[in-house]
Amino acid sequence: MKCFVTIILDGINNKTFWKLMKKGRLPFIEELSKNSKIYKECITVFPSATVSGHASISTGKFPAEHGLVGQAWFDRERREYIGYDFELTMPDNWVDASTNLNDEHLTAKTGFEIAKELGLRTFSVDLVRKGADLKMSFIKPGEDKGFTSSKLMFLRKFARHTSTKKSSRIKKLLKKVFPFHVLQHEIAVGNTIRAVRSGCRFGVTWFMESDAVSHLYGPDTFEGEHGKRYLYDSAEDAVRDADEEIEKLYKRLSEMYDPVLAILTDHGQSRIEKGKKYRVDLSEVFEKDGINAFTNIDPHEYEKRTGKEGDVIYAVSGPRMAHIYLLKDVLSEVLDVLLSLSAVEFVFFRDGDGLKIGCDGEVTDFDDFEFGEEYPYAKKRVIGLMNNERCGDIVVSSKRGYQLERSDYHGGHGGLNYEDSTGFALIHSPHQKEEIVDRCMVTDILPEIVGMMVERR
Ligand SMILES: [Zn+2]
Repeated sequence: MKCFVTIILDGINNKTFWKLMKKGRLPFIEELSKNSKIYKECITVFPSATVSGHASISTGKFPAEHGLVGQAWFDRERREYIGYDFELTMPDNWVDASTNLNDEHLTAKTGFEIAKELGLRTFSVDLVRKGADLKMSFIKPGEDKGFTSSKLMFLRKFARHTSTKKSSRIKKLLKKVFPFHVLQHEIAVGNTIRAVRSGCRFGVTWFMESDAVSHLYGPDTFEGEHGKRYLYDSAEDAVRDADEEIEKLYKRLSEMYDPVLAILTDHGQSRIEKGKKYRVDLSEVFEKDGINAFTNIDPHEYEKRTGKEGDVIYAVSGPRMAHIYLLKDVLSEVLDVLLSLSAVEFVFFRDGDGLKIGCDGEVTDFDDFEFGEEYPYAKKRVIGLMNNERCGDIVVSSKRGYQLERSDYHGGHGGLNYEDSTGFALIHSPHQKEEIVDRCMVTDILPEIVGMMVERR
């Protein structure tokens, strides 16, 4: 009998992944791939961000349809800023994510609901969990009972790969000293095993740390060049730790079932250049032109705090993409600012009925615009976002090397470029022969799994 587990490896750069594979640093995934359908490139949706990506993986739909148009957006009707940015400093967003994200904002049918119709009990160790029978936490052992930011902070600090005997001794020691604070990948695996053992045969599991480490140190960082042992301080650390944990998971699942394992990224990640000019604060930029702009708070809160009326509210994802909402009639002023901003690559907006694109200071009809190979599936990804009323009046994506936030991160995503958009995917099942496919989209994986669930009977 089969069980079906999808593992989301967060934010791994495609080139980094294949470099590690070629060097033999991911021995278990390599082993698994001999009985897998392997997609050399897995392209995400737009924005290339966690919330929209996970929702697309779990529904097989684009953001226009599933409704999660980014890490954050502005609810025009309620005049509320909706934020799902999983920043350690924003615990409120975590609390929101455990409730509204699924109950209120996700508008498409999930794999959990489909699997249930096929008679399977389901679980989620992911932020998307609508319809799952078992909602497990992805940051602490057991079922989800809410989030706390202090635990996350701890996880980030002490998570690291365990490829030497010595390091696993340290891991054991850490667990002894801090019994409730084990490591995120390990927790994800532990909770997945618990769920499958209790009878769940379909689920999604989130490995978070590859994204966090790529932001912190850069998506193209390797051990030996940048890293210290025993701490996550390179992208390689997190991906190798994931490889080890997936091996553990697979072995335990194999004792109970024939495991069908889909492993994929929710998006890629690209390097942010050093220097202040690459880290743009949109509020500051707009302010220089006399436009009152703000983010992260509701308009009434902005007015209360500043005594000013807001012209523009914006919501950043990745942070290389932003939704921009006009609170006043300032479209042409805002476009002028954005079209001349060195951080901005593309500007999308509606003019009458038609979608327009601004690029290199010029505005043209979206239908006439040709994206190059550097922007995989860009056209259908932009349309797959913009056809939702939660989208900004204007949507922007960044040029390579830039981000739309002041933070000191060395990696970012959200944009349409290759690095932000591209990861990898594989679907393993015990009797599958190795099959190599060039490219898929994150939305293609669920339908394949559903096909296999139907076939199983
Ligand atoms: Zn992500």
